[in-house]
Amino acid sequence: MTTTNDLVRQLDRQYVFHSWSQQGQLDPLVIAGAKGCRMWDYAGKEYLDFSSQLVNTNIGHQHPKVIAAIKEQAETLTTVAPAHANLARGEAAKRIVERAPQGFSKVFFTNAGADANENAIRMARSYTGRDKILSAYRSYHGNTGSAIVATGDPRRVPNEFARGHAHFFNPYLYRSDFWASDEQEECQRALQHLRRVIECEGPGAIAAILLEPIPGTAGVLMPPANYLKGVRALADEFGILLIFDEVMAGFGRTGRWFAFEHFDVTPDLIVFAKGVNSGYVPAGGVVVSDAISRHFDEHMFFGGLTYSGHPLAMASIVATLDAMRDEGVVENAARIGEGVLGQGLERLAREHAIVGETRGRGVFHALELVSDRESRTPLSASAMSEIKHALLAEGMLPFVAENRIHVVPPCIVSEAETQQGLAILDNVLGEMSAKHAA
Ligand code: PLP
Repeated sequence: MTTTNDLVRQLDRQYVFHSWSQQGQLDPLVIAGAKGCRMWDYAGKEYLDFSSQLVNTNIGHQHPKVIAAIKEQAETLTTVAPAHANLARGEAAKRIVERAPQGFSKVFFTNAGADANENAIRMARSYTGRDKILSAYRSYHGNTGSAIVATGDPRRVPNEFARGHAHFFNPYLYRSDFWASDEQEECQRALQHLRRVIECEGPGAIAAILLEPIPGTAGVLMPPANYLKGVRALADEFGILLIFDEVMAGFGRTGRWFAFEHFDVTPDLIVFAKGVNSGYVPAGGVVVSDAISRHFDEHMFFGGLTYSGHPLAMASIVATLDAMRDEGVVENAARIGEGVLGQGLERLAREHAIVGETRGRGVFHALELVSDRESRTPLSASAMSEIKHALLAEGMLPFVAENRIHVVPPCIVSEAETQQGLAILDNVLGEMSAKHAA
């Protein structure tokens, strides 16, 4: 029997329980295969992947060197207990530490991003002897006990069962929670607000501030230039650890290995997943600073996972990071972001009335869509759904969140592919501006 889109969709709807969904309302897109920045279905319809799936395929789909490394590792050793020493795990950890700034020495591996945050939080609590974790309302940190409660977005609310979490407003000048009119004002007021939250929650009770340096799912929110430095200073003043969640922004997406490198600031723990191996095999982890590593030389770390440092994941990390270095993938993300993509999105923002703002760095951008530029009224959910379907019909797989299109192609995206993506966006935004702009 030949495989068809209908067959795969029917199998899915009958047996698969999906994430974050009302199961009865789903009509999933069928994907048969992929290569580089392109995916296709069983009818041969092709899509330019401007979502990188869930913003994870930084190296693109089906990179031959990564696939070869996974196959080779599968022939050698497919699984090993975390307590054993294993070559692939050591090589993967070494490469990650080499890409981190000075002052980081070890890597704890997890299965993905949420459990990486979970373990970073646990390390911070154990290291400081304090309980509370502060994180931003505009954030996403994952879907496990503490990670979902650290998350600020509304998916937190039905899942609030972990203890010791408090939230603060992070800067977002376009929709300022601080009535700020420029970036400097937004920065100062956001830092003053964070200081007040620390004072009110009790500095002596706070183990860590957990932050995405550039919040991703919340809208690719570029922080004001000195915000992260200000957060670092507050953390230092009160003896609080700083955890940067680089799960979405890390490993090349912003045109640097880590997003925080743009802001001249260093955290105490770095949480990663997604781009570290483009998700070819599930993996995540925590890069641990020298001081915290030394602490756990003398103290027990009460945490672990059966698949911590799984050989297939580790081999894929080694091959991914080597290929990214050899092929200049991070440099490509920076070049495309500053050039054709960044400039192209600026042009779309000028030309189309429903674009309220474009922002981002590297291949990590968002277009914020509004029905009225003056009032900044977010475009309605039904208009956004129409836009998503129009983009798909034109052959682009978009990442749509609330009233935004996140423009997040793989870091390997070529100039020609970027131009093609921009042309599709141009068409659809033109059509939709005529229909939906006030
Ligand atoms: N942290 C950030 C910043 C994320 O964007 C995500 C997922 O999108 C996570 C954590 C959770 O990662 P995972 O879904 O791999 O558990």
